[in-house]
Amino acid sequence: MADSFELGPFRPPSEAYSLLIRATRNCPWNRCRFCNMYKGKKFELRPVEEIKQDIEVAKRIHDRIREQSWRLGYGDRVQEAAAMALRNPPNHAFHNVALWLYGGGENAFFQDANSLIMRTNELTEVIRFLKETLPSIVRITSYGRSKTAAKKALAELVEIQEAGLSRLHIGLESGYDRLLQYMDKGVTAAEHIAGGRKVVESGISLSEYVLLGLGGKEMWREHAIETAKVLNEISPNFIRIRTLSVNGSLPMYADIENGSYVRTTDEEMIEEERLLIEHLECNSNYVSDHIGNLLQELEGKLPEDKEKMLAVIDRFQALSPGERTNFRIGRRARVYTYLDELDDSRKHQIVEQIIHRLSQDSRQVDEKEILDLMEGYNIRS
Ligand code: SF4
Repeated sequence: MADSFELGPFRPPSEAYSLLIRATRNCPWNRCRFCNMYKGKKFELRPVEEIKQDIEVAKRIHDRIREQSWRLGYGDRVQEAAAMALRNPPNHAFHNVALWLYGGGENAFFQDANSLIMRTNELTEVIRFLKETLPSIVRITSYGRSKTAAKKALAELVEIQEAGLSRLHIGLESGYDRLLQYMDKGVTAAEHIAGGRKVVESGISLSEYVLLGLGGKEMWREHAIETAKVLNEISPNFIRIRTLSVNGSLPMYADIENGSYVRTTDEEMIEEERLLIEHLECNSNYVSDHIGNLLQELEGKLPEDKEKMLAVIDRFQALSPGERTNFRIGRRARVYTYLDELDDSRKHQIVEQIIHRLSQDSRQVDEKEILDLMEGYNIRS
């Protein structure tokens, strides 16, 4: 039987070519009302020896692909052999190692939702073992929670950074306490700030994820303004934007059904994003690297690119109502990626046909139909 090792279900899009090592299983909090990533699954710490065994298996698969590269005459240019291995991998672990080598073999990501919850000495032991076993790895990243980061001593985070953890991805979601409480995020704005600042101070690069639309019609303004305030206090290296996507399996779905929570429309979410960007005063890279975001071109380095980013929002808001609808449906139906594609007559026509189908020729597409097109996007992956 082919070598294999355990893989968790998620990784951020920016880790698409990373070697995935499952450090823990599932989420130790698991109560956020907008998230179903690990619902129904029990959190478990994995024994260090078990994680090390997985790393050893990854190394064996790595060696096998390298040997094949030499046999085929490519030598150290292992990407060719990795591409061949990707055509018919015997299992998911083999596929992951081949993809990692194909992508350069330099990055690794520790799964699942909060590796920081491991004992510091165990986490550093695993990081060191990974670097010793696979020395081509230069960047190691993971998910973490603000609350856990806030509880660790700064010296521990420094130890983790020195062992080799390069970046943490933290789900900030919002900086508005009332909303954090309503969504059962299990963290306050003050804890977000304390945890985030400590990570930045330790030298670990920090990505904070913001969830657009989370405040709904009732709290969108406070959500935008208070989130910007928290980010200004932290000044993370990256602010990564995600858009709320709701399906029937989420705990918050019942509130939508009974009318106690009303979702914002795409256009309202763009107004919320404008407010967020206007209030940001930090030194961070603003990234929209997710298909669920309406304006994926909203990216830049803050503060210098703020006006350029706001101009993208101006451009969207200046479109005629018909063109805005065309763009929204085109995005949600995955026909468009960027605003410029509105000028692509072939794509424009495809979207018009979708609009006719959805509106039964009336050109009035129900908001629910547009939101339904978005369902299935996962906020993290
Ligand atoms: S958002 Fe993060 S912390 Fe909350 S339940 Fe999901 S994985 Fe866990």
